[in-house]
Order: sequence, then C-alpha cells, then structure tokens
Amino acid sequence: MLDGIRAIQARVAQLQSMSQTIAPARPVRPATTSSFTTPTATSSFAAALSQAQSATTTGTTTLRPAVKQSPGAYGAMVVPPELQQYGNGKIPESALQSIGVGEFRLSSNAAASFRQMHADAQAAGITIGVNDAYRTYEEQVDLAARKGLYSQGGLAATPGKSNHGWGLAVDLDLDSRAQAWMRENAHKYGFVEDVAREPWHWGYRPA
Ligand SMILES: [Zn+2]
Repeated sequence: MLDGIRAIQARVAQLQSMSQTIAPARPVRPATTSSFTTPTATSSFAAALSQAQSATTTGTTTLRPAVKQSPGAYGAMVVPPELQQYGNGKIPESALQSIGVGEFRLSSNAAASFRQMHADAQAAGITIGVNDAYRTYEEQVDLAARKGLYSQGGLAATPGKSNHGWGLAVDLDLDSRAQAWMRENAHKYGFVEDVAREPWHWGYRPA
C-alpha cells in the first residue's frame, strides 16, 4: 500500500515538473452532481488513495493523478509545453489535426486518440456526433458574448481559459446509447467528462 502512495506522489511530482496545470473553471469532480457511476471500491487502498490525493492539494490547484482508469477518475488537465508556447486559441494549423468528423480539429495527440475512439464506437454501432472541438481565441470571445460566462451563470469559459482553446476538448452530439458508451469507454482513449452539468463536453486528459 505504501508503494502505491509513493507511486502516486512520484507521478504528481512528475506532472508538476512537466508542465503547468490548469484548474478547471468548474469543480474538478462532478460525480456528486451528475450521473457518474460511483466506484464501489471500499478497500484500504481507496482510503490511502484519497489520503494521498488530499495531501497533494496546494492552494487552489488540486492535482488528481489518474491512477485508476474508471469513469469519473482522471488526471489533471496538463497542457503540453509545445502547445503552451503558442497560447490558448492561438494554436497554428501545423499543431492541429482533423478528428475525422467534419472540419473539426484538435491538437495532434488528442485528434489521433479521438479518431481511434470514433472508429471503435462506430464498429460497435455507436455514432459520436461533434458540435465543436478546437476553438480559436476569437471564437471564444464570440461564444462568451452569445452564451455568457460560467462565472455569471452562462455556458462559456473566460476567453483564453477554455480547454477548447488548447485543442484539448470536444463538444459532442450524443444520443443516450452514445452517452452511455462514452461513459463506459472514453477514458480508455483519454477523454473524460470533466465539466459539471455539461454531459456533451469531453476533455482530453490522458493518464
Ligand atoms: Zn465544451
């Protein structure tokens, strides 16, 4: 069990040294307000994990190591340095890739992972529709003007703060079967439902 905690702490230290972490605009763990399946594990490992997680909380940024790959458990949003250098909403075409649906694009790794997920879903008879993916800074400004800011009860992140601006989030069009499939499988591809009350929004947070 101690080895498990040390591994978590090492992973956290690694993440901290790798890159800046972005605190979500909404609560990090939406499980209490949405229909996530609550993990049933009640072992002492779960207690140790919870202890280790609370021990890594500093200031307003909570790092959550993606130790357990299950719906509702995910890693911190880490913006890779190669994206940070461009700035949110300023990612050049060369660092973006098609996700294989319409004209939508994500940053390269997220796009590749999405294409695989989309293909696997399709093979299972599931259609994953897409409403939005990468969003430029100008598009974020426009969206905030139309939909209002989260901080004021609206549906848009502050321009320059959206994970869409890093090419690391998608807004999907899912029927109930597709929503269920995503909740069961998306984490295997690094996509997690990480904004409370937005079941369509999936962030790319690979373990
Ligand atoms: Zn979104």
